[in-house]
Amino acid sequence: MNVIVIGGGAAGMMAAITAADCGHSVTLLERQARVGRKLMATGNGRCNLTNRHAAPAHYHGEDSDWCAYALAAFDVEATLDWFAGHGLVTTTEDSGRVYPYSNMAGSVLDVLRYALERPDITLCAGCTVSRIRRRGSGFTVETDQGSFAADKVILCAGGAAGSKVGGVMDGYQLAKQLGHHRTALYPSLVQLKTDPTYPRALKGVKAEAAVTIRRGREVLAENRGEILFTEYGVSGPAIFEISRAAATGGEGLTVELDFLPDWTDEATMHWLRQRRDGAADREAGTLLAGTLHSRLGQMVCKAAGFTNQGAATLTDRELEKIGRCLRRFTLEVQGVCGFDQAQVTAGGLRTDEFDPETMESKLVPGFYACGEVLDIDGDCGGYNLQWAWSSGHLAGLVMT
Ligand SMILES: Cc1cc2nc3c(=O)[nH]c(=O)nc-3n(C[C@H](O)[C@H](O)[C@H](O)COP(=O)(O)OP(=O)(O)OC[C@H]3O[C@@H](n4cnc5c(N)ncnc54)[C@H](O)[C@@H]3O)c2cc1C
Repeated sequence: MNVIVIGGGAAGMMAAITAADCGHSVTLLERQARVGRKLMATGNGRCNLTNRHAAPAHYHGEDSDWCAYALAAFDVEATLDWFAGHGLVTTTEDSGRVYPYSNMAGSVLDVLRYALERPDITLCAGCTVSRIRRRGSGFTVETDQGSFAADKVILCAGGAAGSKVGGVMDGYQLAKQLGHHRTALYPSLVQLKTDPTYPRALKGVKAEAAVTIRRGREVLAENRGEILFTEYGVSGPAIFEISRAAATGGEGLTVELDFLPDWTDEATMHWLRQRRDGAADREAGTLLAGTLHSRLGQMVCKAAGFTNQGAATLTDRELEKIGRCLRRFTLEVQGVCGFDQAQVTAGGLRTDEFDPETMESKLVPGFYACGEVLDIDGDCGGYNLQWAWSSGHLAGLVMT
């Protein structure tokens, strides 16, 4: 059977190799000059290819359980065995994140590229698919390099995220031509835009913090870890991991930062009183020197309203204000950065239009979709690539 795979990203390469392993003749069409361009950018160039904790709870979408079958059918162990069988040595961090032992994304891409080099796989790079047409029981796939006939088509064109490394809207448009629908799309695993007044002054400063995204008193998401202040808001792993809530949560959100998450309010006050009592003739803005990054410490005191006055003159009530800023530093969320900065697309092709056990369309038999183009997105930490491997593998098992 002739199988056309559209998109030479993580899911597409896995689907193509699996389909060839099943005895099909495969043509892989990739818009960019090379396959796996986005893969090279993953994990800051290290490629966090999976996570030992991969499970449906780490995935999102209108029906996030839809991903369960694929994740179990080609699970983390099976994925790592598959990669090991193709020569990839990996290492697992305490967090469960798995990286190539070489710490280079190129190693993951290398084993995939070598696995694609076989007579039953034809790779057409620099070939953009513009249309998929139903023809009899098969398909015609139209590209800027001519038309290709296929018995089955697997769409792995990815999502809109990471546009600098190839994220485009094409996948959604190609599926729409066949009658498929998509949900709303949002950038996810992305930096937050906030009122920039304080972040801009702290640009480049990193801190450990507990992070809470709220609408009024309602908590939309909580996390803890490293944050980074930027020109336009806050970034860093702890922010990325909960950015989906800010992207999809609508208006009126705030992000609250607790810079001493292990401390009680009482312990914080006790510490602040000690600092005041030992402060001699220093300025209030220096009260947190030695507690936080110096610029952040000064900013917390400034946000509480104290800079030049003598630290020793601060009353307990004034210290409480500083304590509140230290434990509940609140920034108004103005949105999230765009798809160009995002690592993944939240939303995608409606999963209720595809069979979770085969990835085949329920509307168009013989048409399959997998990877990020579908309405499934994972948490930060290797979950999105695991979804690409699992769903790509399942789609590649195309049945006659
Ligand atoms: C900077 C960055 C870092 C990331 N880091 C990680 C990480 O460490 N771990 C993790 O799990 N996830 C990470 N991700 C997310 C992960 O890379 C994606 O979720 C995953 O690559 C999706 O795989 P995919 O095959 O579905 O799509 P893609 O990898 O995007 O592949 C889709 C392919 O289809 C091609 N294509 C699109 N339209 C057409 C067309 N019309 N014709 C032909 N070809 C077409 C594209 O050029 C592309 O090569 C990161 C993403 C980014 C942007």
